[in-house]
Amino acid sequence: MCRTLGISLKSERIQIDMPTSRELEIWSNEARRKALVCEHCLAEGIEKCDENLVTHHILYKYKYPQYALKKWNAMVLCEKHHKLLHSQEGYRKD
Ligand SMILES: [Zn+2]
Ligand SMILES: [Zn+2]
Repeated sequence: MCRTLGISLKSERIQIDMPTSRELEIWSNEARRKALVCEHCLAEGIEKCDENLVTHHILYKYKYPQYALKKWNAMVLCEKHHKLLHSQEGYRKD
């Protein structure tokens, strides 16, 4: 694959690149360091839940890649509430 060509074609079509998985991982870890509990569980009065915590994009990264690494765009949820939120909103993806 020609790397140079790939990059030049890409930048012509879209202005903002999707963040790399490494960048997203850092973003996600940062958010989870601050919020140790799922925000929805907390709202229900559950202070500690056993589910894994995930970092949800308030503005979906596929729609708004330019905001994908913003701190304000992070919401820490447990897997249960994360799935629930996506099923309610009709989105399968983050
Ligand atoms: Zn939860
Ligand atoms: Zn999500």
